[in-house]
Amino acid sequence: MTQKYGHLANAVESSGGFTCLICEASPASWTWGDLHGEAMCTRCGTPYQLLRYEKDAAGVDQRLDVPPKLNIREDWVPALKRYWEETRAFTGLATIMLPRDYPECVAGKRRFNQWLKAHPEMQPAE
Ligand SMILES: [Zn+2]
Repeated sequence: MTQKYGHLANAVESSGGFTCLICEASPASWTWGDLHGEAMCTRCGTPYQLLRYEKDAAGVDQRLDVPPKLNIREDWVPALKRYWEETRAFTGLATIMLPRDYPECVAGKRRFNQWLKAHPEMQPAE
């Protein structure tokens, strides 16, 4: 689903009282990206996998009742935390297909990339 009304248009509060690992918003609230089940923290833009499934004995996907899972590599957490501490800026790092529908994500990724160029020591090895 695209977001034609801004990134807060479909914001929903975390039902389980989840605290964002980067900005510590608690409870975190979410805005969907284009990857099924993935949403971003509305405050800092960190992506999490909210909807997760496991096949049952009959091979049918069953939704798991589990907390949000960070959808970025763990070795990026220090850079995202420091970026948040320094800038308090939204990164918008969820998966998106049509950038024109997510101007906040495009601007957020651009700002984060500029910050990374100025802080190469924060970028984990590939
Ligand atoms: Zn956050």
